[in-house]
Amino acid sequence: MSLHAAPVQKVDTLIIGAGLIGSSVAMHLARMGERGIRVVDFDLEGSLSSSELNAGGVRATFGQPANIEMSRISINYFASVADEVGYRPCGYLWLKTPESLPAALKARELQQKLGWNVEAWDVAELRRRVPFMDKTDDLAGAVFAPRDGLVNPNLLKNHYRAKARELGVVFEDRTWITGTESMGDDARIRVLARQLHSPAFHEAKLSVFAGRPEMEGLPWTGARFEARRVINCAGPWAPQIAKLLGYSCPSHPVRRQVCIFDCRDVDLTPFGMMVDPSGVYFHPEASNGLAGFAQSGEPAGVNYHYDGESFFEEFIWPALYERSTKFERLKHLTGWAGLYEVSPDESAIIGEVAGSSLASAGRIFEAHSFSGHGAMHSYGAGLALAEKIVRNRYETVDAAVFSADRFATGKLLHEQAVI
Ligand SMILES: Cc1cc2nc3c(=O)[nH]c(=O)nc-3n(C[C@H](O)[C@H](O)[C@H](O)COP(=O)(O)OP(=O)(O)OC[C@H]3O[C@@H](n4cnc5c(N)ncnc54)[C@H](O)[C@@H]3O)c2cc1C
Repeated sequence: MSLHAAPVQKVDTLIIGAGLIGSSVAMHLARMGERGIRVVDFDLEGSLSSSELNAGGVRATFGQPANIEMSRISINYFASVADEVGYRPCGYLWLKTPESLPAALKARELQQKLGWNVEAWDVAELRRRVPFMDKTDDLAGAVFAPRDGLVNPNLLKNHYRAKARELGVVFEDRTWITGTESMGDDARIRVLARQLHSPAFHEAKLSVFAGRPEMEGLPWTGARFEARRVINCAGPWAPQIAKLLGYSCPSHPVRRQVCIFDCRDVDLTPFGMMVDPSGVYFHPEASNGLAGFAQSGEPAGVNYHYDGESFFEEFIWPALYERSTKFERLKHLTGWAGLYEVSPDESAIIGEVAGSSLASAGRIFEAHSFSGHGAMHSYGAGLALAEKIVRNRYETVDAAVFSADRFATGKLLHEQAVI
């Protein structure tokens, strides 16, 4: 079948991207009574999606009220289905220097005001509560949020999908969105795709996600969808989908690496996420540790190369050894690279798309660019966007501030608490 002769599949809502965000949006729309929802993804398994490759941290310890609120709503939900999504309220501990402590304490006031309990610890309390931290001369204290913690992102995504499927949402695999077509009228949007009919191998997935020429050699067939509305939930590929939908997105994908290490001299399991002033974050991962670090100057682009032992030796181990003599014998085990999708102010973009050359108002929506916070915001973001779409207003959480308009109006949400 030629790529463009494919029969048209009519749907009501077409969601592009079935990661945590697309799956959450689908679940919420279905819960609000919407039907005819199709979620398309090139790889439902998600082996290269951000939802698969993240660190599972969930926290409301942000500086921007909207980010605090988005996490608060989401974490409250995770707590209500804790076993199903692997939520553990093991806390986020932010270690602070004399320079960074005042801002953290100021943010804490806001977090407390918005209903998120955050404790302020002096160094003595830190050493009492976290006895393995025996190098603290550079620290002035710490803030600790006991209900922050960890989820299992895979369980969470499958939870959203299962709830959505129960209400009739269809998830379509191996479908790569490639374009749009003008319909001549404004009632529907036509979206073009290529489909594979057997699973793609890892190399083939890499070619497609990186837009490499080899992808042309895959056994594609064509597909066409007509939708009353289209929602861009394509994570790191959101700018590409935006372009196909006739508008521009200011975000970019960027590589982030995490590693797993053997921490034989310390039992990390009683602790949660710990964020060092160096920017290195770490938490227990089964009987090992997981650590990540955002290298400054990392170029924008789709890059899944993991630097391996050298990432651990250069960035992770030195920072951790500066924190504890017990970390001297840490040993690198494995690791991976995934993609953050970063907006100019490092907060998400959520809402209706204004000014698309393809469709008029009420047809195109978006939720992406979570800048490292998509797992923790996923429930609230899906709920907010579904409310906007179905009821034309935000009810539970005011997500108006996440609209992409802010980049034109200058009302940016500069989030300082990013890792
Ligand atoms: C190393 C790392 C650590 C992180 N740690 C955390 C953390 O601790 N806590 C936290 O909250 N967040 C964390 N994040 C961020 C979080 O993972 C993301 O914000 C979140 O997963 C975004 O979900 P998403 O659904 O928007 O994107 P994705 O999960 O990437 O989903 C987008 C989907 O769109 C599909 N797609 C894209 N283009 C097309 C197309 N043309 N056709 C069809 N399908 C398409 C892709 O296949 C993909 O499945 C981390 C991210 C990384 C990389």
